[in-house]
Amino acid sequence: MGLRLGFDLDGVLADFQAGLNQACLDPSAEMDGTSSSQDRSTIELKRAWRRIIRSENWWTTLAAYEPDQIARLYALSRRHRWEVFFLTKRPSTAGDTVQVQTQWWIEQYGFYLPSVATVPSSRGEIVRALRLDLVVDDQLIECADCVSASTAKAVLMLRDPADQASRDQALSQGVGVVSTLAESLDVIERLDTMVHSKSGALARLKNWFSLATEERPVLPMNPRDARPLPSLQR
Ligand SMILES: [Mg+2]
Repeated sequence: MGLRLGFDLDGVLADFQAGLNQACLDPSAEMDGTSSSQDRSTIELKRAWRRIIRSENWWTTLAAYEPDQIARLYALSRRHRWEVFFLTKRPSTAGDTVQVQTQWWIEQYGFYLPSVATVPSSRGEIVRALRLDLVVDDQLIECADCVSASTAKAVLMLRDPADQASRDQALSQGVGVVSTLAESLDVIERLDTMVHSKSGALARLKNWFSLATEERPVLPMNPRDARPLPSLQR
């Protein structure tokens, strides 16, 4: 059986922080000159969120950190038969549902038919329910929740490699650390190899007899290019 993987969206695939910073820039917003800088940043953030929630399909406007790695994840998942789930707590905005916006965005980068779970509650609960083997998230608290609530391994996406304190904290809690999506895919590929070589000689014998699976009929890499099912053809 292939690995079952979970990927957080914001901070892992999508550059949410840049989008939020952009939403904070509102030249029309007047600040009260007497408020402290902390008050001003709280007010700015609240205004930015109001703006985001009113913006149609705002989640589709975010940039991808590593666009080519999303297509690579798709190709690897097809090759190694990984089951991939994208997990998010994004709040809804005007326009389509968070799920449709997110699915549309992921497909634009070459990962077709993505499974997106919009779960506002505990990340650990959904990871356990989905029986995931590994989760990649940019929040240590979510990684720790996954590790304590399920049997999944967690990998922290720490995009600032100089943040030694967060790295040490994650490692001390049994959470792996990567700084790019590319690196996380390298780690998962190594894990995939380990899992399949673990069962030893018996598995190799089985693989010998199942070489034909290399030629198994597969659906097209881009299902959107596929011909309709025979039952739908006139
Ligand atoms: Mg995140």
